[in-house]
Amino acid sequence: MSRPSQFAVFGHPIAHSLSPQIHQAFAQQFGIALDYRTIDAAPADFAEAVRRFFDEEEGRGANVTLPHKAAAFALASERTQAALRVGTANVLTRLADGRVAAHNTDGAGMVRDLTDRHSIDLRGHDALMLGAGGAARGVAWSLLDAGVATLTIVNRSPDPADALADAIGEPARVHTRYWEDLGNIGSYDLIVNATSAGTLGQSLTLPFSLAASRALCYDLGYGKSAFGFLAWAQAAGARYAYDGLGMLVETAADAFELWHGKRPDTEPVYQSLRARSA
Ligand code: NDP
Repeated sequence: MSRPSQFAVFGHPIAHSLSPQIHQAFAQQFGIALDYRTIDAAPADFAEAVRRFFDEEEGRGANVTLPHKAAAFALASERTQAALRVGTANVLTRLADGRVAAHNTDGAGMVRDLTDRHSIDLRGHDALMLGAGGAARGVAWSLLDAGVATLTIVNRSPDPADALADAIGEPARVHTRYWEDLGNIGSYDLIVNATSAGTLGQSLTLPFSLAASRALCYDLGYGKSAFGFLAWAQAAGARYAYDGLGMLVETAADAFELWHGKRPDTEPVYQSLRARSA
């Protein structure tokens, strides 16, 4: 019997990743046999671990998460437009000639979670993004593509927010503000928490004035890491408060389609993970 195709997710730490479960559930929908495992690589070992996976272990594709997304982008020989504009990659694919291609599915996955799963029309929203790290970069362009009217980026340290706004290059729609001024910058229809504060066990102190009536609040984190922000959103009177579990499943679906040429049904996988996290 031939060996199943090899897939993996690289991160550090990575033991608690849901990606192996999600990809196995997608594969079952099509009767595909695959081996999908976690690979814990420290930053100094990442490039060599990726080389070994693709060259020696005949890996076909890999997901990449913290802290390797910039390194994954840098080591690839080809980059999709989505990866190029963001400057990081969360998907690596071995091409037929052995070279490795980089792609970024974060933004498309987040927007699809909102528009398809939660039936939200983002057009015309005034959006506030908290954070300007890798994930914020991943979603910023996609929010603009989805039609938000304005995007205001606020980061604890101002330089990454300014760099992101400069990279987007749409000064009429994209603005930056200082974190210290959050109390007097007005209110927003869409507030995206793209900070890693919750994941790091830290809490954010945010003024309720940020949430417009009927605001939509979205935390890219999920599980415990999103509790604090979602509780704030509810207390601030937000109409909707979502975590990033759906984004995780949607970004995985994009990678699965890229590797297998088949579009999985994300809803049963999302519902089963949601039931388990309840
Ligand atoms: P990065 O390390 O690249 O960026 C972290 C960001 O959080 C920076 O903007 C940083 O600000 C800010 N930050 C950290 N701690 C605080 C704090 N205490 N107060 C205010 N700001 C803070 O991380 P990522 O962008 O890759 O990830 C961010 C989050 O998104 C994580 O929780 C991650 O799990 C989640 N994520 C979810 C995905 C999904 O599929 N659902 C996909 C990708 C990410 P500063 O620059 O000042 O340090």
